[in-house]
Formats: sequence, C-alpha cells, structure tokens
Amino acid sequence: MPSNTKRLEGKVAIITGASRGIGKEIAVYFAKEGASLVLTARSLESLEAVSKEIAALGSQEPFLFALDVKNAEKIQEMTDKTLDKYKRIDILVNNAGITKDGLFVRMSEADWDEVLETNLKGTFLCMRAVSKIMMKQRHGKIINMASVIGLIGNAGQANYAASKAGIIALTKSVAKELGSRNVLVNAIAPGFIDTEMTQALSEETKNSILKTIPVGVFGKPADVAKVALYLASDDSNFVTGQVITVDGGMVMA
Ligand code: NAP
Repeated sequence: MPSNTKRLEGKVAIITGASRGIGKEIAVYFAKEGASLVLTARSLESLEAVSKEIAALGSQEPFLFALDVKNAEKIQEMTDKTLDKYKRIDILVNNAGITKDGLFVRMSEADWDEVLETNLKGTFLCMRAVSKIMMKQRHGKIINMASVIGLIGNAGQANYAASKAGIIALTKSVAKELGSRNVLVNAIAPGFIDTEMTQALSEETKNSILKTIPVGVFGKPADVAKVALYLASDDSNFVTGQVITVDGGMVMA
C-alpha cells in the first residue's frame, strides 16, 4: 500500500562536502525526505547558499558547520554539537573529496598526501567520531563515496585511485566490525558524474570516457543521490559492506 511517510522522517544525517556537486544533491534529496541535516564543507558561505535552497523547498533548515575533513578536532566538535542539538546521529555520508592528478613518476609527495589525507584519512576520521555514537544507539548508516577509479585504477590518478580503493577496503572492514551493533557501512562508486570536479577535464578526455559508458551519457549528481537515499533509508536495512557502482555500466564485476 502506498504511504505518505517520508523516507528519512525523524533521521539525523551528516553530509561532508555538501557545498556543491554530489554532496549538495544528496542534501537536497535527504531534505525532501524529511531528514534533519548537518552540512559541512570548508567554507560556510557556499553552505549558506545550499541551506537557502533547502529552506525554499519548505524543508527544515540545515545546521551548517565549516570544517576541513583533515582536522580531527573540528570533526569531534561538529559531532558533539550535532549530538547536543539533535540527540542522535542516524546517517553519515562521507562525500568530501578532491583530485590532484598527474603522472605517477612526476607525482609530488605533497599531491599524494593531500589526496590521501582528504579522501581516505578524512573518511576514517569522520567514521571514527560518528560510529562511537551509532554503536551506542545500536543503529546507524554510513555511506562512503568511493569511485570506479578505486576499482579499476586510472593513468594519471594514482593518488586518487589509491585513496578510493582504500575507502572500499575501509568500508568492508568497518562493516564487519560494526554489523553486530546494527551500524551498516556501504560505499558508492560513481563513474563519470557531471560536476565541477569533472568539468575541469578537456573535451578530448570527456569524449574518450563517453565511449566507455554503455548507456552513452554522463551521470548526474541526482543519479548518485538516489542511491545514497536508498542506502540511508530503511529499504537497505539488510545491506552492509557493499560497493554500489553508479556508472552507466562503465565497470561490470
Ligand atoms: P566537487 O564538486 O569538487 O565537490 C567536492 C566537495 O568536497 C565540495 O563540497 C568541497 O567543499 C568538499 N571538500 C573538498 N575538500 C574538502 C576538505 N578538505 N574538507 C571538507 N570538505 C572538502 O566534487 P563532486 O564531483 O561532487 O564529488 C563528490 C565526491 O564524489 C568526491 O568524493 C569524489 O571523489 C566522488 N566522485 C565524483 C565523481 C565525479 O565524476 N564527479 C566520480 C566518482 C567519485 P569546499 O571546497 O567548500 O570545502
């Protein structure tokens, strides 16, 4: 029987990297489904614009917090403040991520460190802070943003590929540790999604990528947000340790 209940009504969700692209779209989808949101990114300004958009939909205004996911202290502060305000944390989406592409032999240590620390360590730090609360609650959903590049590798993206493969292994390991406490941990591996991150690529690169996508189009942030919504909702209560590719068929197991 169809129900009018929103899929995330009464749930509290933290989303990192919510100022644009995929993270912003996930925020909009979660808000429409009734979630109380905590949105983070490095600058408050860009988050305020997202907050206005969400308020204009008639949804509850999100709680905004500026933090760099490399900063463990700030993450703890954000977690504590979220708990003070909402008394629980049901969903964590580790979406913040960057690229610093370059050929492997010329890759600087700084570019390696920045990508690994933001993408992989940032995910670890947020998961560690929030999972303690979820374990006590005996309930929680963690969604980590990986990439198909973490599954198949990519020339010019050794640092990014390593960070995303690390996120996949981290997801599976923590899913095994926390399953008995009903904390479910999954990853999404998007293929090519049209955002600022991919808009930086040349037309030539984009055309050659397009040829590798069976459905023949690039993905949109909403394609990823819909899968994040499934993983955040009660529809996935028996799903953990999985990597769901959202890539138009680019990578098939
Ligand atoms: P985007 O448009 O560049 O957005 C990245 C988000 O991460 C922004 O909100 C940014 O906010 C935030 N961020 C970056 N560094 C941060 C840091 N140190 N601390 C906190 N927040 C930080 O990228 P996107 O395309 O939406 O990608 C989102 C996620 O999906 C990333 O993890 C990316 O690797 C993954 N992904 C994307 C694609 C794709 O084709 N687009 C494919 C596979 C996977 P501020 O700059 O305001 O801090």
